[in-house]
Amino acid sequence: MKRLLFGVFALVSLALFLGSSQLTATSTAQSTNFNGPVNARPAATPAKPAAAAKHPLDKGDFKVGFPPVAKGGKPRKAMPKDEAAMLQEIATGLNELIALPRDVYLNFDACGEPNAFYSSDTTEVTICYELADQIEQEFKTITKDQAKIDDMVGDTIMQAFFHELGHCLIDVLDLPATGREEDAVDQLATILILDGSPEGRRSAINAALEFDLASRDSDPNDMAYWDEHSFSKTRFYDMLCLVYGSDPKSMRSIVGPDGLPEERAVRCTLEYQRAEKAWMRLLEPFIIK
Ligand SMILES: [Zn+2]
Repeated sequence: MKRLLFGVFALVSLALFLGSSQLTATSTAQSTNFNGPVNARPAATPAKPAAAAKHPLDKGDFKVGFPPVAKGGKPRKAMPKDEAAMLQEIATGLNELIALPRDVYLNFDACGEPNAFYSSDTTEVTICYELADQIEQEFKTITKDQAKIDDMVGDTIMQAFFHELGHCLIDVLDLPATGREEDAVDQLATILILDGSPEGRRSAINAALEFDLASRDSDPNDMAYWDEHSFSKTRFYDMLCLVYGSDPKSMRSIVGPDGLPEERAVRCTLEYQRAEKAWMRLLEPFIIK
């Protein structure tokens, strides 16, 4: 799950896009932390830039753990220290970036099902351990290289986390979302993972691949046409389209009969630009400068 940290680094690119000089300083301080193993990170947090005036809409924080009203504040499965530390770092990064009207709780937990969700009742984002286990089994069917599998699981969990964060932001920031919300938050997740770096593009492709794997066993006669989510195979192509559209020159290799069809690829630069512009414009009033 350490790859989630990389996603926070991606958030910094969002701030850069919005021209936040404060986050530029933070990104430099944090970047040394993102390449090392989680437990090798120094305990000291990076020095904060000089205190700026508080954003007028900033009345809450991202917090690690459970809201007092849920499960008596107790997890079903205790979070290992390194995972809690990682979530704390994500929370800190998000707090420096986004003004929240109320507290939001981030946690990993055992849920009894492979899932990830956002609860608006408790303003809680939960990634279930069972989801990571299921994803690992899926990737094990295509490679025996455990290090590779760990990376791909981390990339997919990062997508799931930012997807749920998208639901959370639409809710707590009262953002207008047209079209299917599930597709909108998939777009946000991909945009955040795609920070312009080759690693970001690799991570997004890995997360897309999971949707492809998840679609393998779908019975064409038993498709949930009523479901609020797009089909896994569609989500696979939607993600590939944004990856390609974010950098068509370096991503040309994913276009073709075995990847993103040319018929879709021709529109992906525009799709990426529009998705990014829409999310940036929606979030801009809440970005702490
Ligand atoms: Zn969702």
